[in-house]
Amino acid sequence: MAFESLSERLQDSLKKIKGQATLTEANMDEMLREIRLALLEADVNFQVVKEFIANTKEKALGQDVLGSLKPGQVVVKVVHDELVELLGTSVSELDFSRKPTVIMMVGLQGSGKTTTSGKIAKLITKKYAKKPLLVAADIYRPAAVDQLKTLGQQLNVPVFEKGTDISAEDIVKQAMAYGQENQHDVIIVDTAGRLHIDEPLMQELQNIKEITNPSEILLVVDALTGQDIVNVAQSFNEHLSITGAVLTKLDGDSRGGGALSVRHITHVPIKFVGTGEKLDAIDLFYPDRMADRILG
Ligand code: GDP
Repeated sequence: MAFESLSERLQDSLKKIKGQATLTEANMDEMLREIRLALLEADVNFQVVKEFIANTKEKALGQDVLGSLKPGQVVVKVVHDELVELLGTSVSELDFSRKPTVIMMVGLQGSGKTTTSGKIAKLITKKYAKKPLLVAADIYRPAAVDQLKTLGQQLNVPVFEKGTDISAEDIVKQAMAYGQENQHDVIIVDTAGRLHIDEPLMQELQNIKEITNPSEILLVVDALTGQDIVNVAQSFNEHLSITGAVLTKLDGDSRGGGALSVRHITHVPIKFVGTGEKLDAIDLFYPDRMADRILG
């Protein structure tokens, strides 16, 4: 699973401090140094690490741990709470207040957009009794359209597609009309990705945003993304004002740094995590559970 080595290292340094009968500023600094290294090695963005360590130290000192009875445990709790804070504090559900609710899926190619579109369609059909429509708006990869069609068949969810000889903007315009005619209350738009961010793609995505007026723009990021996450997340956010992120491939053995940085970079909640290739391998994101998992 993701975060394994980070988790081990953090647990080791916390274990050491837990065992201390008295806590000095020196051994707390030592622990913070170890945590800092563990986070950096896990590829967490350096700015995120810097703030994490500064906040942890400030809070720990603020709680007067040096004089408390079980100082180690207080510090462990401070680290846990800071990790929850970094990950987003509370669970964030989808916003279904508008009819139809349009969910626009964006992200780099291979991040898991198409798979996650299918997973969300399945989840909202089951959990919220919604009637979704999947829209194939990635006209650059014919395989993407076929992939979405196959997912739709498996899920018994209709897929709106017009092939790849028409602009993505025209597809979504027609899809919006189709969705309304056929009383789909949720329209999930699977957009194109690229290996790297480029301006024409961003322009196309901005056009799609204007046409569909989405309630949610979910940035799909692969947990394997390391430092690159900063560029990717900032760029999508600046151009589109995303409303949430989805972390995919948490079942893989990524170091997890990108996953830990994405909220701090974008200030939007992580809404879902993908934990496998199967269509039910998706969960709402619970920051406290994730922190528990990392800290053991
Ligand atoms: P897209 O190019 O962004 O649409 O990416 P795809 O949806 O085609 O996904 C790329 C690959 O990642 C596919 O092989 C998916 O099966 C795989 N994938 C997507 N999400 C997950 C996940 O949560 N876990 C694992 N292990 N694989 C995933």
